[in-house]
Amino acid sequence: MEDAAIEKTRQRNIAGIIIALIFSCAVIIFFYIKSRHPLYWPRIRSFALGPLDTWPRKGITNFNSYGAYLYSLAGILLVDFLVLRERSAIASLLKFRKSERTDLVVGTASIFGLSLTIPTVLTGGATAFIPQYLTRWRLNFIDGIPSIYVQIVIWLVALDFFHYWWHRAMHQSEVLWQFHAFHHSATTFTIFTGNRIHPIETLMSVVLVSIPMLFVGAPTSSIFLFLFIRRLFDMAQHSFIPATFGSFGKWIIFSPVGHRIHHSDKPRHFDSNYGNIFSFWDHIFGTWYEGDDINETIGIPNNDFNQNGIVSDLVSPFANAGKVIRNKARRRPLYPS
Ligand SMILES: [Zn+2]
Ligand SMILES: [Zn+2]
Repeated sequence: MEDAAIEKTRQRNIAGIIIALIFSCAVIIFFYIKSRHPLYWPRIRSFALGPLDTWPRKGITNFNSYGAYLYSLAGILLVDFLVLRERSAIASLLKFRKSERTDLVVGTASIFGLSLTIPTVLTGGATAFIPQYLTRWRLNFIDGIPSIYVQIVIWLVALDFFHYWWHRAMHQSEVLWQFHAFHHSATTFTIFTGNRIHPIETLMSVVLVSIPMLFVGAPTSSIFLFLFIRRLFDMAQHSFIPATFGSFGKWIIFSPVGHRIHHSDKPRHFDSNYGNIFSFWDHIFGTWYEGDDINETIGIPNNDFNQNGIVSDLVSPFANAGKVIRNKARRRPLYPS
C-alpha cells in the first residue's frame, strides 16, 4: 500500500517536472518570438480564444464555422438517435457516466474553439504561430487547380495520408500511445468522441500533419469548408450506427463500423483501420481488418481512465509516458555488445 503511495507521488513529481519544462520552454519561445513579431500577440489571442473572440461580431450562424458545425452536429445526433434509440449518443450522454462526461466536456470545449487553448498556452503560441509563419514558404500546390471539387479530393487524400502515419505512430510508440490512449479510453461513442484528443496529441499533430499540409496548400477562402468536411467524417465515424457502406466502405470511404473496429477492446482488432477518411490507405499499407467479426464494445484493456475526472485523465498520460521512458532507459545496456 505504501509502495503504491510512493509510486503515485513519484508519478506526480514526474508529471510536474515535464509540465514545468514544457512551460519554461514555452515562456522562452513566447518572449523570443514576441520581441521579433509585433503581430504575434493578436494572432495568438484569437487562436487561443477561438469563437469567444469573434462571436459577438460574426454571430454563431456564420456558415464558415460554428453554425455549420452545430447544425451538422444536431443532424448527425438525430440520425444516430433515430437508428440506435437507447444505444444512441443522446441516450448515452443523458446517462452522464464518466466516459460520457469527458466527451461532453471536450465536445463543449471544441464547440467554443477552446480545445486548441491548452496546446497554444503550453507552447507559448508556437502551434498557432509556426504554421502561419511557414505559409510564406508554402508551395500552394492545389491553389492552381481550377476545380474546387478536385482541390477538395486532393486535399483530403493528402491530409488522410499524413494522418494515417501519425495515427499509426501513436499506436506503435509506447510513449505516444499513453497520450492517444485518452481518445481510446472512451467506452461509448457519442459523436463528441472524435474531439476527445489529448492536448499533446493535438500539439504534435499540428507539427506532423498541419505543417506538411501547408505545402499542399488550400485557398484561404475554402479552408473552413475543407476542415468542416473533415469534421463531418469524424463525427459520423464516432457513431455506433451499424453501417459498413459495403464495398464503398471497404475500399474508399471509412464507415462508422470501420472506425468502431479501430476502437475495439478485443486484441484481434488491434493495430488495424488507422485511416480517418479513406479506407484505401489501410489496404495499401496492410493494416485493414479483413475479418467480419464486429465488436459490440469499445475501449482499452486495463482502462485506468474515466475514474478520477478529466483533469486526472489529462495529467496521467505524462506520468505514464515518463514511466515508459524510465523503464526503457533502465532496460538499455550501458555497453551494448
Ligand atoms: Zn487510434
Ligand atoms: Zn476515434
